[in-house]
Amino acid sequence: MRTYIKDLNKFIGQEVSISGWVDVRRDQGKMVFMDMRDMTGKVQCVVLPSHPEAIEQVKEVRTEWVLTVTGIINKRPERNVKEGVINGDIEMEILGIEVLNKSETIPFDISGDTKEINEEVRLKYRYVDLRSARMQKNIRNRHKVIKLIRDFLDAEDFTEIETPMLTKSTPEGSRDFVVPARLYSGKFYALPQSPQQYKQLLMTSGFEKYFQIARCMRDEDSRGDRQPEFTQLDMELSFVKREDVMELNERLLIEVVTKLYPEKKIQQIPFPRLSYKEAMEKYNSDKPDLREDKNDPNLLAFCWVIDFPFFEQTEEGGWTFTHNPFSRPKPEHMEWLMNKENIGEILTTQYDVALNGMEIGGGSIRNHDPKALEKVFEVMGHKTEDIQRNFGHMMNAFSLGTPPHGGIAWGLDRFVMTMQNEPNIREVITFAKTGEGKDLMMDSPSEISDTQLLELGINLKKKI
Ligand code: ASP
Repeated sequence: MRTYIKDLNKFIGQEVSISGWVDVRRDQGKMVFMDMRDMTGKVQCVVLPSHPEAIEQVKEVRTEWVLTVTGIINKRPERNVKEGVINGDIEMEILGIEVLNKSETIPFDISGDTKEINEEVRLKYRYVDLRSARMQKNIRNRHKVIKLIRDFLDAEDFTEIETPMLTKSTPEGSRDFVVPARLYSGKFYALPQSPQQYKQLLMTSGFEKYFQIARCMRDEDSRGDRQPEFTQLDMELSFVKREDVMELNERLLIEVVTKLYPEKKIQQIPFPRLSYKEAMEKYNSDKPDLREDKNDPNLLAFCWVIDFPFFEQTEEGGWTFTHNPFSRPKPEHMEWLMNKENIGEILTTQYDVALNGMEIGGGSIRNHDPKALEKVFEVMGHKTEDIQRNFGHMMNAFSLGTPPHGGIAWGLDRFVMTMQNEPNIREVITFAKTGEGKDLMMDSPSEISDTQLLELGINLKKKI
C-alpha cells in the first residue's frame, strides 16, 4: 500500500512504501542519499552499507525517475534534524526500489524558481515546469480560490451552469474565433468571447442566480499579458440593483483574501468608490492604483469605479459602447437613450472593480427592455435587419418575460496572479500560450490535412 510522504512521521520504526519522483540524489560512495517527492512533500531517503542490493539499485537511479521505494522510517539523529522542514526529523532507510519510469535529463532545473528560465523552453516542456514547487503551489492555490468561490456562491443559492462553447458570431466587442461547421458548408460557429448572452437568457429562464467558471476566447492581436483563452468567474442575478451585485462581490473578494491569504492586508473596507470622471481627473486611469505603499507585495487596494460613459466616439465619427452593449443606462439617462440625444453624456450602470492598478472585474445592470436595447444598436449605426439577425434571440427573450437583471465577471487569472504575487497570468495558467498565442507544447496552431479541408469545404488562399 502506498503511503503519502506527508504522513511518514506517523510510521516511525515501520516499513512503508512511497511513490514519487527522485528530487535529488547524492552519491557519497558507501552511502547514497536520495530525496523523494510526491504531491504532498519530500523526504530524505538513505541506503546504508548494510543493504548492498539496495545500493546497487540506487546507484542506477537518476533525478526525476519515478519510483516506488520501500523502506523503514527512522528518526534522524539529533544533530541531523532540520527544523521547520517537513520530514526534517525523519528519514527513510531504503530496503528496495521499483523503477516505474525512467527519465532522461530534464531540459531545465526545476529545483528553484523556474521564472529565471527561458519561458519558451518552459512552455514547450510545461508538464515538467509544472513540477516545480512554485508552479505546483500556484495551480493548487488557484484550485482553492475556485473551490471557495463555488462554496460561497452555493451557500448564496447560486446554480453553476455550463453554457455552450460552439455559439454564434456576433459583433460583441472583440474578434471571434470561428469554427467551420462541416455539416453546413460555408457556415461557422464562434467560440464565446464570454457567456454574456447565455447568462442573460438564463435569467429569462428563471434561474435567478447563475455562475460559471467560464472560459472566454477572444481573437485579439497579441498584447503582452493577454491570452487568447482565459477564465472568468461569471455571474448573473435577477431582480437586483447595482448595489446588490457590488455588495455580494465585495463580500466574496474579502472572504477569498481573509480565508486563503491571511498574510495579505486589504487597504480599505468597504472598498472605495470613484466615478469614472473622478478616477480620470485624480489618477488619469479608470483602474487607479490606490496603494499607499507600492513596495508592499501583501497590500491589496481594491476600488470600485462607476458611472462610466455608455458610448465613445469611433475614429469614423460614429458611436460605439465603452464596455457592454447589453448594459442599462443609469435610470436618469434612460430618456436620453430613448430619444437618442446627448449620446456622449449618457452614463451606464457599469461597475468595474480594480485591484492595485489592474481591472479584475466588471459588470452592469442590463437593458432588459427590447426597445431600449434596440436603441443602443441604433446609436451604434446598426440597421434594423442587422439587429434582428445578430441579436433577434435577445430581443425575443426580452419580450417573453425577462426579469430585470445584472451581473459581473472577474478575470480569474489576473486575480489569482495578484494573490500569488506573480508578474503575469501565464504563471497561474497550467497550459499557457505565449504572448503571441502559440501553444509551444502542442505546437498549435498547426496546419490541417487536405482531407480535413476538403470535408470542411475550405479552400485556403494566401493572405494578402
Ligand atoms: N461579459 C462581460 C465581460 O466579459 C462581463 C459582464 O458584464 O458580466 O467583460
